[in-house]
Amino acid sequence: MYLKYMEIQGFKSFANKIRLELHEGVTGIVGPNGSGKSNVADAVRWVLGEQSARQLRGGNMQDVIFSGTENRKPLGFASVAITLDNADRALKFDADEVTVTRRLYRSGESEYQLNGVNCRLRDINELFYDTGIGKEGYSIIGQGQIDQILSGKPEDRRALFDEAAGIVKFKRRKAASLKK
Ligand code: ATP
Ligand code: MG
Repeated sequence: MYLKYMEIQGFKSFANKIRLELHEGVTGIVGPNGSGKSNVADAVRWVLGEQSARQLRGGNMQDVIFSGTENRKPLGFASVAITLDNADRALKFDADEVTVTRRLYRSGESEYQLNGVNCRLRDINELFYDTGIGKEGYSIIGQGQIDQILSGKPEDRRALFDEAAGIVKFKRRKAASLKK
């Protein structure tokens, strides 16, 4: 499984719809300061369900919508779609490609889709548990996070091992059934 391509429109500095093709192996993104490199990583976090505006370097969630420039009006919505190659069925989803889409309108209305079908954030979370991808995954290591991992509380560090060991889904289910 690997990230094949992503489409971004109206998200942060990306006003026009862009399509980034990625390939197996290493891809580097280079560019001058402020050109949008970190915004690409933010887009991946966001489409995987990030709920914290602070994690996305904003004050509130609407801040991810393109806010305009001197010669370009703000846009009314942000949309990010990532497509993962799933030929190896690493994700429990019966398709060779899995596309996750998230859209947010200025009105606050938002939607998630899996292969074009509306779904809940929960469905996306469940699809990615124990894969290392997803909100609590380790597929995106942000600046400062290494430090956090090394000097953090043992319980916090353990979350990373739980994910790598593939037991997060069982912990979630246990917590959910204890609640009932
Ligand atoms: P550096 O090399 O300094 O880390 P970078 O390439 O990672 O830079 P980003 O942080 O990805 O740059 O991009 C910052 C740019 O994105 C800024 O110019 C900022 O104005 C722009 N930006 C962020 N949010 C929005 C938004 N909602 N609308 C328009 N532009 C935005
Ligand atoms: Mg940056």
